[in-house]
Amino acid sequence: MRIDVFTLFPAWFGWFTEQRHVRNALRLGHELEFVDFRQTTPLKAGQVDDTPYGGGAGMVIRVDVVEAALRARYGIDPIELPARRRVFALSAGGRRFDDALASELAAEPALTLLCGRYEGFDERVHDHLASDVISIGQYVLSGGELAAMVVCDAVIRKLPGALGHEESALEESFSAALEGAPEYPHYTRPAEWRGHAVPEILLSGDHARVREWRRARSRERGAAAP
Ligand code: SAH
Repeated sequence: MRIDVFTLFPAWFGWFTEQRHVRNALRLGHELEFVDFRQTTPLKAGQVDDTPYGGGAGMVIRVDVVEAALRARYGIDPIELPARRRVFALSAGGRRFDDALASELAAEPALTLLCGRYEGFDERVHDHLASDVISIGQYVLSGGELAAMVVCDAVIRKLPGALGHEESALEESFSAALEGAPEYPHYTRPAEWRGHAVPEILLSGDHARVREWRRARSRERGAAAP
């Protein structure tokens, strides 16, 4: 998979790309690259934003700046791009990113993520240059960089070999193996801590009963979730 992240702050991702599952994925041949909107802006002095029509506080990232960055990267008219690869604009008000979407993205050959800043993108970026507008939750971040890392993390850990232990990626919260429910609780040593004992059944060695118990706890949590 090839992931391109367009951002005004590529330095934010230095730490992220050092993390083990990301490094594993890169070693397996996946690509994660960062493109700085400022490098290709057609405006003077690295300008990328402008004041909003209609007035109001804050600055808006210009559509021609995003267009120029996409054109320089892909060598085609960016209007054609969403038909060729998924282009995700990150926006607080977008479609909610979830595990099902992460799985869908993990199956794509290539992804483009557009990180906003300030008041966000000119709406024509969402309408004409992106194929999807996604949000990681109903709160407002200062920029799309952390949101892009959330998306990349959730997608990359689903790529075969990225985690290094395949089993754990199959039976996790919201996975089909758990019928979309949150994962069951985990315990490790000590078996008793300050009077709180680990559930007896987990020490029983009876794998079938353990599996049943875990499914039941997972369903319970699913039923309790909002
Ligand atoms: N004025 C906007 C907030 C802009 S925040 C509003 O009220 O919705 C600046 C940038 O941060 C956005 O363009 C987007 O790229 C990113 N961002 C902020 N919150 C986000 C969220 N919950 N999910 C995804 N991206 C987010």
